Amino acid sequence: MSEASRPALGNRRRKPAFGTSIVALDQLSRNPVEFTVAEADRSYRISAERGPSGKVSLTCQCDDSHTNGWCRHRVDLLCFRYERVGGATAEARHAFEAIVTGTALGNAGGDADRALTAFTQCLTAFDQRRPANALGRNLGKFTDLISDLAVCASELEDALTTLRHLFERV
Ligand SMILES: [Zn+2]
Repeated sequence: MSEASRPALGNRRRKPAFGTSIVALDQLSRNPVEFTVAEADRSYRISAERGPSGKVSLTCQCDDSHTNGWCRHRVDLLCFRYERVGGATAEARHAFEAIVTGTALGNAGGDADRALTAFTQCLTAFDQRRPANALGRNLGKFTDLISDLAVCASELEDALTTLRHLFERV
């Protein structure tokens, strides 16, 4: 299988643009910034704050955060997606983006988002293109799908481990 027919792999390590500079702590318009995210009939509070050392803490009260150490709510916010966020005025968005842009956590959020997308695409490709009979002539295709999935899963694990570590270091 050619690289072109394996689009998920092309979505993997895209590094953030060079020259993304960090807004100095004393230049932040608001710090901390709080949002609420609504899901089903519940809502969760998310708080972002840059500390004096440059470390950003981003906390969410949802069950996934408690169980898994990360959640989609925070990854969405780190990628500046506000569709499910309440209280995200233009002023609050700008303040939040100034807090996280160019920081280790901001970059780790983008990496985790790309790894999640690549993994989801690989899983879909595996489900849709997996040969009914892997034995015989189709074993090579099966191997390609499996190895793509293994690569994406391994990179996702790395990205989420980094993200969890940054979320925990409060
Ligand atoms: Zn959450």
